[in-house]
Amino acid sequence: MADLKVCVVAGTRPETIKVAPILWELVRREIPHVFVHTGQHYSHALREQAFVDLGLAPPQVSLSIGGIPVSHQVARMTPALRAVFARERPSVVIVQGDTTSALAGALAAAAEGVALAHIEAGLRSFDNAMVEELNRIVTDSISDLLFAPTELSRSNLITEGHDAARITVTGNTGVDALTVTLPRARSQSDVLARLRLVPRGYTLATLHRPELVDQEGRLRAALEGLARLASRGWRIVFPVHPRTLGNLRRFGLERALLAIPLLVAIEPLSYFDFLVLEENAALIVSDSGGVQEESCVLGVPCATMRENTERTESVEIGASALVGYCAQALSDAATQLTQPRAPWVSPYGDGRAAERIVDTLLSAEVSRKAAR
Ligand code: UDP
Repeated sequence: MADLKVCVVAGTRPETIKVAPILWELVRREIPHVFVHTGQHYSHALREQAFVDLGLAPPQVSLSIGGIPVSHQVARMTPALRAVFARERPSVVIVQGDTTSALAGALAAAAEGVALAHIEAGLRSFDNAMVEELNRIVTDSISDLLFAPTELSRSNLITEGHDAARITVTGNTGVDALTVTLPRARSQSDVLARLRLVPRGYTLATLHRPELVDQEGRLRAALEGLARLASRGWRIVFPVHPRTLGNLRRFGLERALLAIPLLVAIEPLSYFDFLVLEENAALIVSDSGGVQEESCVLGVPCATMRENTERTESVEIGASALVGYCAQALSDAATQLTQPRAPWVSPYGDGRAAERIVDTLLSAEVSRKAAR
């Protein structure tokens, strides 16, 4: 154990949230580690607030590589991360999920000959047009340790021929983060009072994926779908992601959004506020990966504005429904999802994923690789 040194790479808001439990666990066990932030998300709303709410110290290394096209980000991040790994000489690099930062971290670790661990391994949408799907496949294919959140993600990896000995089913670290943070969020957030909302009296919406918000027709359809929910008298809270705001302006749709009655468009929320809003919503409308998981864990139905998902577990148990980019499908699913029904059991873990991941890092596998 004394020899283990871990570099944890993150660059986006969801990554920061999902690596936080690993960082907590490394601190708790006094394992040397370096938290490296690539700067992929650089707006204050998506960056600093998450550190505060999660009680994280600022990253030891900040690369500030954001605000440039994704393909350029990989080219900039990979050598920068190689330099960090060459200097810090970790025994293992941890990357999370499917972002450019995860891919660049994986490529840099492999190039430096450092053992690579992938958290959230084995998620598959089977849609190779999604850059995230390619990031997942490449990252998994060069990882030494594959931390699959669910049995389904494990079986995806086995089907692709990955060695079972490298795979550990851990649960999702997002559940760990939520489990620890929600009690604090409940006591410290005043978001319901601030927005004059009552529990189960509103729909929470988030949209940010390029497949949706970069395409005018799809973004228009999403607004039309939200307008249909509002026309039933449903209140809607919509924290608008910076990418979405940019596109609403570019397509001249900002006025259409603001004209939807009963819809409140606001800045992205802190993690505290967002968790409280998720927990108390009657319905969530989202294209987010993390929000599909969190809504499932919190027992709130989610209408997922995508044509496919790598979180099929939620769809299978009826916690979420895929509505594509269709206003009518959203409206129909909203009706169906909000009918009274038996609660489901979340497949995403018991809140102890980080403990299992760090246990595995301490195992012989990493030590052996580190010694090479
Ligand atoms: N989130 C947040 N504030 C918001 C919207 C989302 O803190 O206004 C959190 C949410 O709780 C979840 C994560 O951000 O943990 C999801 O991030 P996002 O939807 O940007 O990315 P994805 O999960 O799709 O990769």
